[in-house]
Amino acid sequence: MNLPKTHTPFEANTPEAKVGIIGGGVAGATIALRLAELGVNVTLLEKGPSLVNGPPICHLHAGGSFYREITDEQCLTLLQQSIDMISVFPQAVNVRPTVIAVPNTDPGQPDSIIPRLKKLQTQYAELVKQFPDKKLLGEPGDYYCLFEREEVEELAQQDLPESVTQLSDWLIPVAKNLDLDSVKYPLILVQEYGLSGFRFSATASLAASQIKNCKVKLNARVTDVRQSDSNKHWQIRVDHQTSQQQETLNFDYLINACGFRTGQIDDMLKAPRQRLVEFKAAYVAHWAQCAGHWPEVLFHGERGTPNGMAQLTPYPNGYFQLHGMTPEITLFKDGLVSSSAETAQPNLPKPYLEKIDQGWPESVVTERTQGAIEHVARFIDRFLSAVPAANPLFGAQQIPGDDPKLRTSDVSFYGDFYARTEIVKAPSALSASDAILDNLIETGLIIKSELISNATTHYFPVTRNIELDSVVSLACDIAKDRGYPIDLALKI
Ligand SMILES: Cc1cc2nc3c(=O)[nH]c(=O)nc-3n(C[C@H](O)[C@H](O)[C@H](O)COP(=O)(O)OP(=O)(O)OC[C@H]3O[C@@H](n4cnc5c(N)ncnc54)[C@H](O)[C@@H]3O)c2cc1C
Repeated sequence: MNLPKTHTPFEANTPEAKVGIIGGGVAGATIALRLAELGVNVTLLEKGPSLVNGPPICHLHAGGSFYREITDEQCLTLLQQSIDMISVFPQAVNVRPTVIAVPNTDPGQPDSIIPRLKKLQTQYAELVKQFPDKKLLGEPGDYYCLFEREEVEELAQQDLPESVTQLSDWLIPVAKNLDLDSVKYPLILVQEYGLSGFRFSATASLAASQIKNCKVKLNARVTDVRQSDSNKHWQIRVDHQTSQQQETLNFDYLINACGFRTGQIDDMLKAPRQRLVEFKAAYVAHWAQCAGHWPEVLFHGERGTPNGMAQLTPYPNGYFQLHGMTPEITLFKDGLVSSSAETAQPNLPKPYLEKIDQGWPESVVTERTQGAIEHVARFIDRFLSAVPAANPLFGAQQIPGDDPKLRTSDVSFYGDFYARTEIVKAPSALSASDAILDNLIETGLIIKSELISNATTHYFPVTRNIELDSVVSLACDIAKDRGYPIDLALKI
């Protein structure tokens, strides 16, 4: 798609404020586009070679049904944020539901999450009634549905459909392969879709390249940050890693979107902050015998025990991404660390930082991926024939405060003209951008205009119209460059 670089209709309303964003992950890239689409002058500084190259994203938590332990409020927030995310980044969404099963080994009951699903369904129905264009998770009446054992047994006898025409079609491959005695009933199907990190990266890159006032500097590591004596300007030192040159940039407003390294910039400013950081990994397997259109399948479990949650995320052509919430698979010993009175940056053990910065030893990749395959095969024994197929998808995630169960958070502010994003899940990036926009208006750096005050729609005329074909093509290149099968970048 070759749209000319464009200014938005708002340019005339926006003073020449310069906003600097450090970190081009989901949060930094989303905020850069949100502000730039409104005409704000934005510079996005990313130390890596491409945007959105941090920890992985595969699931759009449109209701938080993964997390039995979080509050209903967090789930309702995740639902709203996910719907907003689909409307802005439709290219990154894999439209397929999630099937949730409670294993017999688990003390929980499927029925216990149904009251929450009803609340989510009601909120979704109300939203759609008020704003019909928010019907982005299908019919509200289909937001979730339940399958008792007899129905699942019946589905197991049906042929795999060529294409999915009704909700129960998604259950057929599961019913044919699942050990039906290993789980409790009903099985729950919920409209929690997939989110592709590679297509998110591609969409953000293409959109940024088409917006004149959105400058992206890659391979640009921020090494120093200072505020002027009058506290009105920021001076940022940037190391350009490919040219080995240094540059000093000046901004009126600074956004720290460094993900799990947010504390490093906080420390440069002596801005204290309590936060946690957790190192985790997902694995990629190829299952040659895979047939049919698979939903995501989630087996609930007690985190950190050998029966921790198992998550099977489908991609085209037999590829799956696997999580297992045990210390031998997704979680890591001492992988959850906290900031201290001395530093706002929680310090991960050295081996995990080495994994992030230098990669993984092959033997560990094979061992952990094989562990993940076996973890899923406890319920789907044919999955034992799957094989490790790529490097893990991994990274560290920040959680503000001291509650490791927190799943919704967006941004905090410190002093004047400084925001730090603190998202735990990708869909919260948009609400972080909304809060920052409000703060920019409060500081007088942006003048509130008609489109900004329209709280029900996010103004992203360039981003949401990037053509899917261009996104997929670039996403495949990004996957290849990062050493992953291109199948992980294809649209379901
Ligand atoms: C294993 C795993 C699975 C996950 N699965 C999901 C999922 O399915 N769905 C979901 O919603 N979330 C998921 N998450 C969480 C999700 O990955 C994070 O919410 C998200 O990546 C956070 O985005 P961010 O932009 O805040 O940080 P990041 O993505 O970490 O981006 C920060 C960026 O800042 C850059 N940076 C850091 N320091 C500097 C500097 N000094 N100068 C310049 N640039 C700098 C980094 O290079 C990086 O690109 C998962 C996390 C993990 C670990």
